[in-house]
Amino acid sequence: MMDTIVAIASGPGRGGVGVVRLSGPDAIAIAAAIAGAAPREPRTAVYRPFRAPDGELIDLGLVIEFPAPASFTGEDVVELQGHGAPVALQALVAAAVAAGAREARPGEFSERAFLNGKLDLVQAEAIADLVAASTLTSARAALRSLAGEFSDRVSDLMRDLVGLRVQVEAAIDFPDEDIEILGAPAVTEALAGLLAATGDLLDRARAGVIVGQGARVALVGAPNVGKSTLLNRLCGESRAIVTATAGTTRDLLREQVDLAGLAVEFVDTAGLRVTDDPIEREGMRRAWDAAQGANLVLALATNAAEAAELTRIFAQLDKTERPFGIISRSQAETERTFGKGSQPASSPAPPWLWVQNKCDTSLPALGEQWLPISALQGSGVDALRAAIRSTLTAGAAGDDAFAARERHVRAIERARAYLDAARRDLESGQGAELVAEQLRLGQEALGSVCGDISADDLLGEIFSSFCIGK
Ligand code: GDP
Repeated sequence: MMDTIVAIASGPGRGGVGVVRLSGPDAIAIAAAIAGAAPREPRTAVYRPFRAPDGELIDLGLVIEFPAPASFTGEDVVELQGHGAPVALQALVAAAVAAGAREARPGEFSERAFLNGKLDLVQAEAIADLVAASTLTSARAALRSLAGEFSDRVSDLMRDLVGLRVQVEAAIDFPDEDIEILGAPAVTEALAGLLAATGDLLDRARAGVIVGQGARVALVGAPNVGKSTLLNRLCGESRAIVTATAGTTRDLLREQVDLAGLAVEFVDTAGLRVTDDPIEREGMRRAWDAAQGANLVLALATNAAEAAELTRIFAQLDKTERPFGIISRSQAETERTFGKGSQPASSPAPPWLWVQNKCDTSLPALGEQWLPISALQGSGVDALRAAIRSTLTAGAAGDDAFAARERHVRAIERARAYLDAARRDLESGQGAELVAEQLRLGQEALGSVCGDISADDLLGEIFSSFCIGK
């Protein structure tokens, strides 16, 4: 039996109205202890005095009861809406605790909604993402996930996958006909269709992570190439220190920008050049680290010699033979033209965008994959913004983007890997058992996106990242 939880549901600090929320079997009785036991219509606001256990007045406000199961959590829920005075709201929580409630853990209301089947996991996570959204685009994307757009796509895939499993399992039950069943075009086609749909969903989920959670973009390049000026341009204000002396930006400078709806953190790094100055060397090491952790690297150069120097420095720093000089994620799969890139990377390098700055000085063009801009005059900056956006989202985040999390991406990647293994097993004429098992594992991975998760610790990990009262 669940106990009754209480928390301040409105934001921290003062406000016109503050909300304390109760959920659980004793919610209505506890609210009655605070606001009096008058019979109340469900979902109807009643104006009442709120009193502490000793009868002292805490506040005057509204009581709204949401009897189970028609509530957010699926349990009896009561909202006490008082004035948004933090001390009064805390006194209300204390009064509820004195009457038998327990203070909620972060995310516990959403967790109960999930456990009671009111929301799936993607939707519950979307609530947290909506609350944390820093741009209107990311808020809308979270809302689409909350409304079930992401979950519906996962369910569609699950349905098709279950359909395919039924056919393959039939081959196990009828071993005499297994070759016929598994070899049927309907099976291979269904699997190919599933793989394609899973790939599409993966692209959209990856874009959804960027739209929902934001991205980090590192600016790298030789000293004086115009990184700080470009950052100011992209941010629309003068933050980074701009000077004509090389080597000014010795540490990392971070700026949060709403880039056409994407929350992007730009990191302006120290200029990359080989130097004996220990401070600059440290700055370069940090620049390299920032580039490694970024979703996208903007590499700036003003001429071919600088471009070659950048390539050389990165080759020196990168001991992993990782391919780099990639200009976009989509091209990354096929075209590794820049840099050495002979060995496959163990973890994928961020995509790169090569930018030719200071183009107002009519420099010779560096090549087709270079984006010409003048940070000083602002020319080409809009095109650069668009290029950053589409590179980050691999073109998969249109107006219908939904918010997603790394957890979802990893689960869909796992599902795709199992489906791919099933395809290989099928092609190489393996038995139905093996194919069926790969499909089962694929379904399990896909199911974990929306919450077919048995492990409590994973649920705990997910909900503990929420705020209290959500
Ligand atoms: P950083 O060291 O890479 O951060 O370079 P800064 O942003 O400090 O710029 C170095 C110098 O280049 C400054 O004098 C800027 O005014 C100049 N600069 C930066 N961007 C441009 C540009 O697009 N065109 C021109 N002509 N000069 C620029």
